[in-house]
Amino acid sequence: MNERDSEQVAHSLMARGYERVAHESQADVVLLNTCSVRDMADQKALGKMGMLGRVAKERPHVVFGFLGCMAQAHGAELLKDLPHVDLVVGTQKFHRVADYVDKLVTKKNARQDCLPHTRQRTMDDLRFSIVDVTEEAGSQSTICNQQLAPRQATAFVSIMQGCNMHCTFCIVPQTRGSERSRSVGEIVNEVRDLVSRGVKEITLLGQIVNLYGRHEFPKIDNKSPFVQLLEGVHEIGGLERLRFTSPHPIGFRADLVDAIARLPKLVEHVHLPLQSGSNKILKAMHRAYTAEKYVDLVRRIRQARDGIAVTTDIIVGFPGETEDDYERTRDLVEEMQFDNAFVFRYSPRRGTPAAQMPDQIDERTKEARNQDLLQIVNESSRRKLKRLVGRDVEVLCEGPSKTNPTRLMGRTRTNKIVVFESNEELIGEIVHVQVQQANGFSLYGTRIRGGRASANYTCSIAS
Ligand code: SF4
Repeated sequence: MNERDSEQVAHSLMARGYERVAHESQADVVLLNTCSVRDMADQKALGKMGMLGRVAKERPHVVFGFLGCMAQAHGAELLKDLPHVDLVVGTQKFHRVADYVDKLVTKKNARQDCLPHTRQRTMDDLRFSIVDVTEEAGSQSTICNQQLAPRQATAFVSIMQGCNMHCTFCIVPQTRGSERSRSVGEIVNEVRDLVSRGVKEITLLGQIVNLYGRHEFPKIDNKSPFVQLLEGVHEIGGLERLRFTSPHPIGFRADLVDAIARLPKLVEHVHLPLQSGSNKILKAMHRAYTAEKYVDLVRRIRQARDGIAVTTDIIVGFPGETEDDYERTRDLVEEMQFDNAFVFRYSPRRGTPAAQMPDQIDERTKEARNQDLLQIVNESSRRKLKRLVGRDVEVLCEGPSKTNPTRLMGRTRTNKIVVFESNEELIGEIVHVQVQQANGFSLYGTRIRGGRASANYTCSIAS
């Protein structure tokens, strides 16, 4: 979601004549779009901005800004220790950033012109600040434009903002506000435009994406607004693949499982956060489902589509998590055989109920559980990849491989990374690759000319 928000801000600046540069040392405007979901993310952003203070001393005309969740959570406080920061803009105001940047650039230039030409400009001479972290009605509909790179094949589309679930560990309801959804028509138009510009795969984004529109739009024929949206987007000609992230197990009802079975453009991948395998901890997290219900949901999703990949998020070391609670998570992860999982050590966030809970777990225990669980996840992930060796997979080619730019990389419908030898002309195209090797978390293979059609093919690699 942050990537998508950053794209939107970049688009709005470029529409006013600003240009992207390769490195911040060449930039006249440096904006950090921040995440607050874990303390480490906050610290990284603060550290990065602190280092940029050196640039500010040498180039005081540069505009520095914090955007996003950390800006929302801390507001003007951020200016205290980082005096070179000019701009702090929260999560409902990304569309105002270009105006604010223009104002700051104009003010700094005007002040520079007033100062005697003989004197070196200092940071204090050119210090201004704008802070805007207020709520704004309709802001969910402002994340709607993006620049596409040449042959860009995939794009994110933001369909809603905020979350009303109030999981006790999560800062998102504070930083992103309450749930607000865009209309089906607006979203379908955005996707149609992206597809007409060459995009083949769309990922619909929301904090609890499957609860899209529940406050704004009615159910029709027993279908939730989210399933109605999936159907609307699915009809767009030229769209090849449709993803969504992240759903909540609550609200993943029969109509959505049924949509997975009947809408072939929906890919064979669901990311479904579990968080814990202990019902006691799930309750303390305010997650409102049980481990048994989660297992049953995954069983129904796997039944709905052959070969579907399931990935998840898990938090270890939540306050009060005993060895027995952790063992339940461990057992469940073994049982589920996820295709992959993001395992996080619980990180207390200021102002959340869990941060005030007794029985906080020490960092050593968290780390030990994290490492132990990662080992199990990595084993199941490798097992799933190995099963694809020798098979043909459909790959949407995204661009040069990061580790070896002479090769291309893309993803299967099940979201596995595939690296293969080919030429750049195939970027943005769907190709077929015979997998020869599974290494780490990627597959390596050779392109096959004239592979089989995707829907039939994917079923043929069911694991
Ligand atoms: S559903 Fe997700 S975004 Fe919402 S409060 Fe829970 S963890 Fe945070």
